[in-house]
Amino acid sequence: MQFSSNVIIIGGGITGYLLALILSRANISVTLVEEKIKESGVKDFDGRAYALSFSSINVLKATDLWDQIKEHSQEIRKMKIFKDNENYPINSPLLEFDKSDLNGENIAFMVEDRFLTAVLYDALGDDVEMINNSNAVSFEENGNKIIVDLDKGIRVSADLVVAADGKNSKTAKHFGLSRLGWKYNQTSLVCAVSHEYPHEGIAYQKFYPSGPFAILPLKGNKSSLVWTESSNDAKAINNLPDKDYLKSLEKKFGDFLGDISVIGNKNSFELDLGFAESIIGSRLALVGDSAQNIHPLAGQGLNLGIRDIASLADVVIDGFRLGEDIGSVQVLTRYEKWRRFDSTLLSASTDIINRLFSTENKFNEITNVIGMRAVEHTPLIKKILMYEAMGMIGDLPRLLRGVAP
Ligand SMILES: Cc1cc2nc3c(=O)[nH]c(=O)nc-3n(C[C@H](O)[C@H](O)[C@H](O)COP(=O)(O)OP(=O)(O)OC[C@H]3O[C@@H](n4cnc5c(N)ncnc54)[C@H](O)[C@@H]3O)c2cc1C
Repeated sequence: MQFSSNVIIIGGGITGYLLALILSRANISVTLVEEKIKESGVKDFDGRAYALSFSSINVLKATDLWDQIKEHSQEIRKMKIFKDNENYPINSPLLEFDKSDLNGENIAFMVEDRFLTAVLYDALGDDVEMINNSNAVSFEENGNKIIVDLDKGIRVSADLVVAADGKNSKTAKHFGLSRLGWKYNQTSLVCAVSHEYPHEGIAYQKFYPSGPFAILPLKGNKSSLVWTESSNDAKAINNLPDKDYLKSLEKKFGDFLGDISVIGNKNSFELDLGFAESIIGSRLALVGDSAQNIHPLAGQGLNLGIRDIASLADVVIDGFRLGEDIGSVQVLTRYEKWRRFDSTLLSASTDIINRLFSTENKFNEITNVIGMRAVEHTPLIKKILMYEAMGMIGDLPRLLRGVAP
């Protein structure tokens, strides 16, 4: 079987779906290839959830999806950050972000992966050619086109290939792009808990020497946890029977929300930092984790990916409307220039924060505490940090401002 489209996206995760939707709405034909079998409908809760920033929500608003997603999401009204020696949440935190510092703008919304994925999948409908359970085996340039051969004998001809196939991107490897980075020797244990008392939309992040421990509010009396330990300890905790896992968890969580119990699946993710040496190649653009994967301590990985696709969509849609070759170096260089600073800044800052806080080093500990307290008492710096986390600093593509291109 053989067909052609303007763009072929490899990888049907959230960034792949969202980009496919945005491009197809601008009359750009899209084929989306995903190696797993994906189906319509909301799955059982698997514990995965994301803190979506203000600018990511703007993209969902511009694609008319936000109202459906918002129904299932929980606003984060406040974020409190502690060092491990503080008796949270009774004592005042080291640093506190409140929506009142932003004239009432939302800090972020927590959304479970299963709702986000289901809404996006259904929105794609018949407008995008979806090929599930398939892998690309070769990419070959032919004049102004790129020919992609999939297993199962399918051949797609396109102007541009987008790699949205995650941090182990085979597509980037096919194009010979190398990846830089390092392992953290940390693993995040991820699960959700139900608790007795309401969280009131407050998110907590506590920095232990072994890694950060985040409690992120979900809809109802539920919270999502990202509990980071050294990889050895995480493995041992993961192997505990449920009752003992809960006991270890309670030690970190505390009892300020009353009794807790684990709901849904327990997951774990080994952490590393990775970034492609270039996010473009010949008729190729990388987005999302295939371009960079960062430490989850700031909950920014997916937000960064959404900023990638908003920028790529902007340049590709404009190029398409002007009759340019959307796979050309000229168009793709605009994308690379737009993204490099933001992604490098965020990759570096999450890496530095993790190194400074996930340590037993007393000197680092003292300087961190002084630094955090200084930020807490300097409203302007605090506001700048909040706008950066919201993805609202710099020259923004239209989608991040909530405008459909
Ligand atoms: C513990 C943890 C907590 C996090 N919390 C947050 C948070 O609160 N907020 C936030 O913004 N981010 C968060 N992140 C980051 C976020 O999960 C990722 O950045 C995001 O899921 C990346 O999405 P993606 O679509 O780029 O890649 P992926 O989600 O990895 O999707 C890639 C897709 O491509 C498919 N695929 C892979 N290879 C191929 C192939 N060869 N051919 C076809 N298909 C292929 C896969 O099956 C998958 O469907 C967190 C990450 C971790 C580890």
